[in-house]
Amino acid sequence: MALTRDALRKILDAAFATKTNYIGCDECLAQLDQYVEQVLVGKEIPEALQLVQEHLEDCPECEEEYLALLTALREGLEENGPS
Ligand SMILES: [Zn+2]
Repeated sequence: MALTRDALRKILDAAFATKTNYIGCDECLAQLDQYVEQVLVGKEIPEALQLVQEHLEDCPECEEEYLALLTALREGLEENGPS
C-alpha cells in the first residue's frame, strides 16, 4: 500500500519536530564565546549551551572556529595571568 500524501507529511513533520532542539551554525557561533568561557573556567556546561556542544560535535566548521577561539583565549589568559 502506497503512502498517501497526508501520511507522508505526518512522517516528515515528526522527523523535523525531533530536530527542533538542534541549532544552526549562526546560533552556534552567536553563543560560541559564552561556551568557550565556560570551558576555560572549567565550569559545567549549562543546559542552554549544551546545544552548542552538540552542534560542535556534528559540525567540523564550527568546531574549527571553536578551537581557534579557545586557543586565542587561552593564550590571552596566560599572558595576563599571574606568572
Ligand atoms: Zn556549524
